[in-house]
Amino acid sequence: MLTHILGYPRIGSQRELKKACEQYWSGKISLQELLTAGRNIRQQNWQLQREAGIDLIPSNDFSFYDQVLDMSLTVHAIPKRYRQLVENNNNITDAYFAMARGYQKDELDITAMEMTKWFDTNYHYIVPEFYKNQQFKLFSTKVIDEYEEAKQLNIDTKPVLLGPVSFLLLGKEKEEGFHRIELIENLLPVYLEILTKLEAKGASWIQFDEPFLTLDLSEDEKKAYKYVYDKVKQFFPSLKILISTYFEGLKDNLHLATALPVNALHIDLVRCPEQLNEVLGHCGDKLILSLGVVDGRNIWKNDYQQSLEIINQAVEKLGPERVMIAPSCSLLHSPCDLEYENSLNEELKQWLSFARQKIDEVVTLKELANIEYLPAENLTQSGNQKTLEKLQANQLAVKSRKSSALIHNEKVKRRVEAITEADAKRDSIFGERVEKQHKGLNLPLFPTTTIGSFPQTKEVRSWRSKFKKGELNEAQYEGLLKQETEKAIRWQEEIGLDVLVHGEFERNDMVEYFGEQLEGVAFTKNGWVQSYGSRCVKPPIIFGDIHRPKPMTVFWSAFAQSLTKKHVKGMLTGPVTILQWSFVRNDQPRAETCTQIALAIRDEVADLEEAGIKIIQIDEPAIREGLPLRKADWQAYLQWAVKAFRIASSGVKDETQIHTHMCYSEFNDIIQNIAAMDADVITIECSRSQMELLDAFAEFRYPNEIGPGVYDIHSPRVPSKEEMLALLEKAKAVIPARQLWVNPDCGLKTRNWEETKLALIAMVEAAKQASVSF
Ligand code: GLN
Ligand code: ZN
Repeated sequence: MLTHILGYPRIGSQRELKKACEQYWSGKISLQELLTAGRNIRQQNWQLQREAGIDLIPSNDFSFYDQVLDMSLTVHAIPKRYRQLVENNNNITDAYFAMARGYQKDELDITAMEMTKWFDTNYHYIVPEFYKNQQFKLFSTKVIDEYEEAKQLNIDTKPVLLGPVSFLLLGKEKEEGFHRIELIENLLPVYLEILTKLEAKGASWIQFDEPFLTLDLSEDEKKAYKYVYDKVKQFFPSLKILISTYFEGLKDNLHLATALPVNALHIDLVRCPEQLNEVLGHCGDKLILSLGVVDGRNIWKNDYQQSLEIINQAVEKLGPERVMIAPSCSLLHSPCDLEYENSLNEELKQWLSFARQKIDEVVTLKELANIEYLPAENLTQSGNQKTLEKLQANQLAVKSRKSSALIHNEKVKRRVEAITEADAKRDSIFGERVEKQHKGLNLPLFPTTTIGSFPQTKEVRSWRSKFKKGELNEAQYEGLLKQETEKAIRWQEEIGLDVLVHGEFERNDMVEYFGEQLEGVAFTKNGWVQSYGSRCVKPPIIFGDIHRPKPMTVFWSAFAQSLTKKHVKGMLTGPVTILQWSFVRNDQPRAETCTQIALAIRDEVADLEEAGIKIIQIDEPAIREGLPLRKADWQAYLQWAVKAFRIASSGVKDETQIHTHMCYSEFNDIIQNIAAMDADVITIECSRSQMELLDAFAEFRYPNEIGPGVYDIHSPRVPSKEEMLALLEKAKAVIPARQLWVNPDCGLKTRNWEETKLALIAMVEAAKQASVSF
């Protein structure tokens, strides 16, 4: 039985990679220093795995920015706009970073390549760009170099390659008239060349990541899989090939995947444990099955007993030599090392496991599985005793989690059970609510508003950090925030916005702010996970039944409302978004956790209403990214996600206007569900697509009110009044005017005041002009 992992976090346990990259980008360290930092991280990771006892240690799982971009460079899938840079430059690293981040220097102004989410994780990859008849060639030799680098340390690694089919499918066609999968014949020779080189250097195992094998595939895509791995087998009969799949089950691709002529197949048994039986039945008489039993993208300790049952089942069917033990997916999605968490609640900490602990779990599982097959008299040997003690300790931890008062709150559970259909429904239908709201709120045609946050200036952030360090006391900190909030209110009044916001100056992050105030959620000190490039996030850990001990936002909303006669919009983060951007408990369905959060938000909504807030926004930017990878599962998810939003938002009077906000808004295929959320007003990102995203709403005859963003807040560019007016005209052409609101695409916290002021003044004028001409 062999152990292996699919990949290890590359940011370094102290985010060394982030620091090195950012210093290099700002010219503070040399290229040599950057490369050394990378080498050190790789070395540490390899050594750590060797010491832990992992049999097949991966290489080429390291990346300075992104493993998909690495592959683009490897096969020379370099868009034309960077070619000059690549050729003129003897430094390929700079060209590489230019592709990731764009380039502005010496008369060159090149836009970055697009970035998007890696399947349903919060990791973002750089999208490969493909052209008709594109030719490839071996360009970057990173995968070969890193194999050699490890070999010099006496570690014979298993190089990891993003498989050619998945690589193509992750990309985008940049011209019409072809499908990227047609490029497979041009691409494959480069992979074969890489294999030739790796084999010559002595590599024996190669890992091909082919996560698309768990997704819906077309016939051509299936054919491409067969074509690729037949060829690999034909040319490299003695290389051992492992195909890894993750994030979903093989399902209807089971026959395809198990029939590929490879040595080993890795499956994700955390995401899809129910596939085990069927897969075992299709392994033929040679295929090795790699069991992804340790959760690679969550932070919970493995339940050894449960994993052993899976392992034993596989061993019984295939024999130990045809079984491998592994985490479910690359540990890229796990924080590095639990050892650094010295202020976590000890009870909670004993239930957790980060990347470093997960590799120990994989090794221990193998030891435990081996013990099962020892004659009884060997069990008393001291090594075996130690291993068995690990099992006992593990079972104690698992058991304590099942009953801990830290996690289980009967009141919350009972409240979830008692939810009725009526709780998820407003008192009246929108048609009736809207009359009452218009009468009560007295807003003009094309009402103007913003999405919530105003610039988080250096000063605002410095107050928070001083407060956290104890350099400002609570009263001082609050005083400063009050001043900032009052300034924002006065300024919004002055320029004539219709619905004001308090500005969110008191918030660090839209999820963290709520997480910190909810019971059942914990925060790590060092639990960083790569989000993209040098950017890392520290997701909250939802560990227990969630409830809200006291109001979370009422103080600031009520304070802001007390300063003005205009309406101030209350500002909340929705249950799906809080769920989606956290590590979530695995001892109950996500839907259940989401419902608990929804109830907490519902209480907050009620308190805001009680405090005299007449408009309340519940942000749900993450609804779309929560969609399951397989279309067949979409409706089930949308049903509970939409219901959670409705539970959060439906406890108010008809007169109270509920807004929601979503960015990254491609809604065509889920518009019905968006409508079912029944928010009185939805604000969406729209300006970059020139209002095209609005078409879905128009076609559906979306009945409620909509605020399509009229300017792109992601760019420092200040849009003109005319530009915004033109966008408004476009919106008016497809959506009835009385349904329209006027607002930016998203919150303004990343902008500075100067840009914000100019843009919003122009926006208000544009709205006025539009209503005059109406
Ligand atoms: N209310 C939040 C803000 O304005 C919304 C952020 C988001 O949609 N991501 O910052
Ligand atoms: Zn947004």
